[in-house]
Amino acid sequence: MPAVEVKKSGSSYLERHAKTYIDFVKLGEKRVLGSGESYCGQYAKVGRCENGHQWIKVIYCGKEWCKSCREVTHNRRIARWLPKALTMQSFGYFVFTLPLEVREFYQDKKNLSELRSYLRRRLKQMYPDIKALCRWHWFGANPYVYHPHLNVMVSSFEKLPKEELEKIKEDYKNALERFTGIRLGKKVDIYYHYYSPQGFKREQKHKKLTDDEAQELYRKTLWHKLKYITRPTFVVYQRELAEKLKNYRNSTVWGKFPELSYEEVEKIAKEREVFCRVSQDIVMLESGHCPICGGKIRWLKGLYPGSLACYGKELGNGYFQLQELPRASPGLDWKKFKEALAWKKLFLSEQAENIRNWLEKEQGRKDIYG
Ligand SMILES: [Zn+2]
Ligand SMILES: [Zn+2]
Repeated sequence: MPAVEVKKSGSSYLERHAKTYIDFVKLGEKRVLGSGESYCGQYAKVGRCENGHQWIKVIYCGKEWCKSCREVTHNRRIARWLPKALTMQSFGYFVFTLPLEVREFYQDKKNLSELRSYLRRRLKQMYPDIKALCRWHWFGANPYVYHPHLNVMVSSFEKLPKEELEKIKEDYKNALERFTGIRLGKKVDIYYHYYSPQGFKREQKHKKLTDDEAQELYRKTLWHKLKYITRPTFVVYQRELAEKLKNYRNSTVWGKFPELSYEEVEKIAKEREVFCRVSQDIVMLESGHCPICGGKIRWLKGLYPGSLACYGKELGNGYFQLQELPRASPGLDWKKFKEALAWKKLFLSEQAENIRNWLEKEQGRKDIYG
C-alpha cells in the first residue's frame, strides 16, 4: 500500500520526496530512523516512446547507505555516464584529497561546492575545452572516518607535464588555505594518472601489444575507473553528517560531451554488456532512448505505485517493460482488450480517468465501428 496519497497536482512534489529523505514530518509520516528507506522503491515512473513502447522505472532513494538500492543506483550511475566516458580517447584521472585539518570545514555543502568550482576553474586553465566526470567519495577504506576526496576523470590528449602538476598542487594548497583560513604546512596531495591506448603499449613493451589489444586494455581500464568513481562510499549511516550533506549534488559533469546518436549508444552498450550487470537496455533507457525502436522516451509526470512493475517484464536495475497500449481493430474481442488493460487498475485515480476517457474514445472510433 502506498504510504501517502498522491494528490492530483502533487506528483512531481512527491517524486522529489521519494528521492530526498527525512522530510516525513511534512508529510505527516513517522520518520524511519537511520535510513529514509521508507519511500525507496515504492513509486515508479512510466515512460513512453513515440512508437508506444512503454517502460517503468522504479524510483529509489539513491542514498549511498541504503542497502535496498545501493547496488541498483550504482549501476544506474554507471549506465548514465558510460556513453560520455566512452567518448574519451584517453583521459587524465585526478584525485584531490583533503588534509585532515580541513575535513571538518568540508562537512558543509557550500564549502564543498566552492572548492569544486575552484578546481573546475583551475583545470579549465589546463584544458580550455574541458570535458570531465566528477564525483566525491566521502569515505576511504574506513567507513567511519570522514575522508572526502574528489575524483575527476578528464578527457585529454596528453599527459600533464610534471611541472604543471606541481603548479596545480601548489595552487590547490593555497586555495585550501584561503578558503578555510587554516595553515597547511606540507604540500597537499593530488593523485594523477594518465591513461591512453598508446600508454599501455609503451608500458607493456615486453608483451608487444597490438593496437587492438591496447585499445581493449584501455577500454577495460576506463570501464573499471568509471565503476570505481561511481561507487557508493557513505555506506554506514551517520545521522549528523548525512543531515549536513543532504541533497548535495555529488555527481557532476563538466563541459559539453558530444551528443551520441541512438546507434552509437547502442554500440557502446552492446560492447560493455559482457563485462557487467549494466545491460544494454539500461544504458539505452538511462540515456533516454527506447531499447526497442531507438525513439526518444518521454517520462510521464505522474507517479505510480511501485507494484505496477509486477505487470511488466523485468530488465534489471529497477526497469521494466510494460506492454504496449493495444489499439482497437475490426473484430476485436472487447473482453480480452479490457483484460489486457488489467494493470491499469493500479493506476491512481487521475490516470484511471484518462484511461477511461481513452477507452471510450477508442470504442467510439467511427473509422472502425461506424
Ligand atoms: Zn534506497
Ligand atoms: Zn520504442
